[in-house]
Amino acid sequence: MNNAGWDAKENLIPFSPITDGEVIRSINSALIGNSKRTTSYKFVFFKSILDNLFNVDLNSDSEYFLGFDAISLRFAEIYWNLILRCKLRQMPENSDGKISAIERILFDFCEKYGYSIDETEFAFEGLRNAQQLELSEKIKKSVVTKYVLGAFCADTDWKFYHFSKPKKWHGIFISRDFFIVLAKYRSDFEKVNYFEWIKYLEGINKEEDSYMLASKLDKSTERENLNPYRKTLFEFGQTKCFYCGKNLGENAVDHFIPWSFVKDDKLWNFVLACPLCNSKKSDSLTSQDFLDNLRLRNEKLRKMNHDFVQREFKSYTFSKLALMYQNAVFNGYRCGWMPGGRDAR
Ligand SMILES: [Zn+2]
Repeated sequence: MNNAGWDAKENLIPFSPITDGEVIRSINSALIGNSKRTTSYKFVFFKSILDNLFNVDLNSDSEYFLGFDAISLRFAEIYWNLILRCKLRQMPENSDGKISAIERILFDFCEKYGYSIDETEFAFEGLRNAQQLELSEKIKKSVVTKYVLGAFCADTDWKFYHFSKPKKWHGIFISRDFFIVLAKYRSDFEKVNYFEWIKYLEGINKEEDSYMLASKLDKSTERENLNPYRKTLFEFGQTKCFYCGKNLGENAVDHFIPWSFVKDDKLWNFVLACPLCNSKKSDSLTSQDFLDNLRLRNEKLRKMNHDFVQREFKSYTFSKLALMYQNAVFNGYRCGWMPGGRDAR
């Protein structure tokens, strides 16, 4: 970790044009680093940004906004699931029984609400909304904006994003060039991040093997309960499989762009599908026709006067959905999937 940056108050150095290669070099060197690490914050922060690419506001020419609330909520979710659910330690033992700030916050929170630290096995999504927000707010103040924001910015040579504490900005303004490259090489960045993070965790959690660690990191932001999405789409009147048109009895909810690529759940990326299409499509992308159908579906859906729908559509634009679809293809996701039974429609 570049210790020079952690207490920086702001970065307002103007962005100059930067090539794909330079962005990749900059991120890789921030993640790989040479100095000895004492926390995993950097990896979690970077994962929080990657997992939030769907939520970045693209309505500007040169820099794109991502709020601290979104970053911190993801940060809270990852650490809750890794520390409390998977029991992964985040700091070497023997340093005078010291624990990291993030562990302290989580343990205090558990004590406050009477959750046992040793026996809490439910996922972050099991917490009530207000509790999720309380925890994420605390983490935002005491970890994300305190220790990580400046350090990661320094590690990327102040070229990744702008931020300002004195101006009380509520998030980071990501350089457009960086955003484009992050989205384009998303899977590769994720792998480098996981690899370095696993090396760090292996040194602390001796009994864990890398394969198990990789799957724990990857699943740390996976929702188990997709019912709100299923229910809303059904209420909206989607009674047929989005892909084959069959009437839905027992409906399954499907990430149009696979979850394994976007690592996010947004209503506008969900469709209802019959179990057969759901399992056959799996981690593939459909043909372009279905992307057009989803555009039309979303135009109608976003008009629904429903709090949940309005919240979910806050960061939606079709061009972002289309960009992520193309990037998933670029990242190696098989595209052109069609349901077998489509002719029978
Ligand atoms: Zn179907």
